[in-house]
Amino acid sequence: MSATSAPSVPPVPPYGPYREDCPWCGSRRLRARLRGDGPRQGAPHRSPVERCADCRHVFRNPPLTPGPEHPLVRAGVRFRHRLAARALYRHCPEPESWLDVGTGDAEFPRAARTHFPYTAFDGLDATHRVLRARAVERVEEAFVGRLTDPHIAARLRERYDVVSLFQYLERVVDPRAELRAALRVLRPGGHLLVDVADPRRLLPVHPLGLGAELVAQGCTILTGSRGHRVVARKDGSAP
Ligand SMILES: [Zn+2]
Repeated sequence: MSATSAPSVPPVPPYGPYREDCPWCGSRRLRARLRGDGPRQGAPHRSPVERCADCRHVFRNPPLTPGPEHPLVRAGVRFRHRLAARALYRHCPEPESWLDVGTGDAEFPRAARTHFPYTAFDGLDATHRVLRARAVERVEEAFVGRLTDPHIAARLRERYDVVSLFQYLERVVDPRAELRAALRVLRPGGHLLVDVADPRRLLPVHPLGLGAELVAQGCTILTGSRGHRVVARKDGSAP
């Protein structure tokens, strides 16, 4: 966000509780990294950013909790949706099936459909918003819950050509477990799209541990291992 005089005061974002451990690896060796983009000490409504000394994951602490978003933020998100869809299209232009995880009102599938008119999009979300998204035909199938729920994991196992985690991993308590669960619902040879929120745009908020984890889980990183958007392919046949 620019530092020009704001037309109106944005709403104060709600913050979650401060956490003592790294959401990526569990380490408690956290270091404050940067303050907000306000004055040196940071505007009081800005969440500081911390860095894990062990895995180098960078994250907001306390985290932003999901809530109604500012219109400017929403416009930025729509732009990111289009960029993310295009990034995937370069590697996987014709997927038949796609699961968007943490889809909410299925804004991302709606945007991605421009590039993928013949793809069947399904949505998964912890809230019932995804049912509303199905009612207005933004997704074909709607699942309420988490990928780590055993009944969902069993039902969706190796079912999708594409699984997208759009600004999702940074909102969950155990991102590593969620990432592994996402890979399990992806068929071998399928593509994973991860987009990590970077509200301040200049910070490398992308967890460096993500690329290593994907490789360890048998994936090939196709793009963006150091950006905030990663496209990876799940290699090999099913174990
Ligand atoms: Zn860590």
